[in-house]
Amino acid sequence: MNFLTNLLPTLSFPSALNVKAGRRIELKSDSEIETMRAAARIVATVLKEISEMTAAGMTTADLDDYAEKRIREMGATPSFKGYHGFPASICASVNNEVVHGIPRKRKVIKSGDVVKIDTGAYYEGFHGDSCVTIAVGKVNPQAQRLIEAAEEALYAGINQVKAGNTLMDIAGAIEDSVRANNYSVVEDYTGHGVGRNLHEEPAVFNFRTKQAPNVTLKPGMTLAIEPILNAGSKHTRTLSDRWTVVTLDRSLSAQWEHTVLVTESGYEILTDRTKV
Ligand code: MG
Ligand code: MG
Repeated sequence: MNFLTNLLPTLSFPSALNVKAGRRIELKSDSEIETMRAAARIVATVLKEISEMTAAGMTTADLDDYAEKRIREMGATPSFKGYHGFPASICASVNNEVVHGIPRKRKVIKSGDVVKIDTGAYYEGFHGDSCVTIAVGKVNPQAQRLIEAAEEALYAGINQVKAGNTLMDIAGAIEDSVRANNYSVVEDYTGHGVGRNLHEEPAVFNFRTKQAPNVTLKPGMTLAIEPILNAGSKHTRTLSDRWTVVTLDRSLSAQWEHTVLVTESGYEILTDRTKV
């Protein structure tokens, strides 16, 4: 989920949301980090399983039911359900839907769809937050290229995570990666700090901007980094359900997100699906 700027409910940080001066960035203690690892591991497990099981003919409501069941089985609660009134445990955003797609029984997934699944788990006082983009069945080469470029942008950002670097290093690396691949980066939503709250300071921008907080990374910070790439223009709009965000030009959109811990020497990806 991300954060939004206006008063629309959002699971994301709207980038127009200016970081309020004086609100501090929480540094997690070793024991808090241990709990965050557990919360994030639950998220990684669910997303790994959903990535493997998603197939044409299923509905986005099927995936939501599965995610909620698994999150609760692992002793956590879904971070998103009820968050600002969001009705489900996952955001399921298909093709030209950018973020915050509401899972629906009538939304049947087809071969060739590009499905973004974003979820969070709240475990012993801490949240994990992550998103994957799933290519269902046989997707066309352009869609596959967008999905890969979006993941590349995420890792370009993550590779800048280490004590002493700044949020602008992350933003710049993401922007440069997206540009090199000739896509646009959505500016209406940002990543965010994550911990006791699903969304906390600081906003983590995906492009260079004066709006970005001037923050030097410190060990113990935990950030959700989550660039969104569009095949067409960067502009988005929110549908009348007040949640689902789509590309204004109906082009395809892709997003990946990890919860990442800043360490002395670099980073640890807490929602790493290869470790579950
Ligand atoms: Mg998320
Ligand atoms: Mg998020």
